[in-house]
Amino acid sequence: MATVPATTPAGVDAAVRRASAAQRRWAALAPAERARLLRRFAAAVDAAVDELAGIEVREAGHPVAAARWEAGNVRDLLDYAAGGVERLTGRQIPVAGGIDITFAEPLGVVAVIAPWNLPMPIAAWGTAPALAAGNAVLLKPAETTPLTALRLAELALAAGLPENLLQVLPGAGPVTGEALVDHPGVAKIVFTGSMAVGRRVMARCAAGVKRLTLELGGKSPNIVFADADLERAAATTPASFLDNAGQDCCARSRILVQRAAYDRFLGLLEPAVLAVTTGDPADPATVMGPLISAAQLTRVRAYVPETTPAAIRGQVPSGKGFWYPATVLESRHAPARAAVEEVFGPVAVVTPFEDEAEAVRLANATEYGLSGSVWTRDLGRAVRVSRAVAAGNLSVNSHSSVRYATPFGGFKRSGLGRELGPDALAAFTETKNVFISSEED
Ligand code: NAD
Repeated sequence: MATVPATTPAGVDAAVRRASAAQRRWAALAPAERARLLRRFAAAVDAAVDELAGIEVREAGHPVAAARWEAGNVRDLLDYAAGGVERLTGRQIPVAGGIDITFAEPLGVVAVIAPWNLPMPIAAWGTAPALAAGNAVLLKPAETTPLTALRLAELALAAGLPENLLQVLPGAGPVTGEALVDHPGVAKIVFTGSMAVGRRVMARCAAGVKRLTLELGGKSPNIVFADADLERAAATTPASFLDNAGQDCCARSRILVQRAAYDRFLGLLEPAVLAVTTGDPADPATVMGPLISAAQLTRVRAYVPETTPAAIRGQVPSGKGFWYPATVLESRHAPARAAVEEVFGPVAVVTPFEDEAEAVRLANATEYGLSGSVWTRDLGRAVRVSRAVAAGNLSVNSHSSVRYATPFGGFKRSGLGRELGPDALAAFTETKNVFISSEED
């Protein structure tokens, strides 16, 4: 589609200097002015939703309806963050001999390192609140998906944001990414990606005691109790692991079903999975598109060869494209690694359980803890199981995970810190405490 120059370490260094100067000017603006400029940026994104979605369809193969939502999510994040600029209040704390107040100071230059699976929203999860809190942002998109990020930075400039406040630095992770992680002028890294790379980024951040947010992988459970509305649970399950062709950190790739409802649930799930329209991502009727790359297709096939016996297997178009069919495996047939590791493709494994205790034990039998769903009509059970599952984002009788107004992040090895929600800006500030004496001498 396009040739994009990679940013060298020297280029990163120059970008940090420019960002640092831009940040000082940005933080010195009146809060209302910063909020106004972010709202203008949001309006520019709103006017470009179709254009941005079109880039995402071609670059990442996302179905166009999903890509429009993703661009709209960037607009919403900017609007929401803009509302926080003038509400970034400190506290006044009762002390003897004077007054004590706190300030939420910007960190300075923040680097956001984004993955390829949801390039626009994830870039904005970090960028919008970081800018709102008075920081400059250096955004490193994934190697395969730099184009929407580059366009967003142009829109920011056109909307009136100061030059160099938001810079996009495309490039290879081990070169451009590491140069950002190691740079002393970068105050914080927001990394979203795989656990293996996240671990490496965390170790390098330790050298400079650098602030860090990690949003890593998942192997999330979808727990279906026999007393649930099984029709609704089955009807909504395909989207819970097939959205974005399963290339979703919150994919409910482990379906746990109470044995008493196991056969009935699978019977209801089959037509729902087979009804998922798979095909040309540019077609508005398409629900599932291809995987992003040949490499990703190879990776998914290595986890689950297409000859593995499946309880349910969908259809894919023949011919050009990195197609992998929607696949539901019963745990007794699932390859061992596919049952415990993040496949990042349209594959789910179904496992029966006897009772609530076993459901919780199975749900927690993973090093991850990002998301999960609980389906039951018993309110007490919904509360007990939601509290017992060690994951950051749970939904009862739904599969929602990410809303810009609610906190998002992982337990265990799914991450560190939280993004989004009412406290999103706080992750991009340092608390400064100032005591002012009122003593006479
Ligand atoms: P990845 O870890 O390969 O790459 C992520 C980003 O890090 C890319 O921009 C890459 O260029 C960069 N990078 C690679 N090596 C680096 C290094 N040594 N130093 C600094 N940066 C480096 O991940 P991916 O394959 O692009 O994304 C898929 C993963 O992201 C999955 O595991 C998925 O679950 C996870 N993810 C998590 C969330 C979340 O919010 N928890 C959201 C989306 C995706």
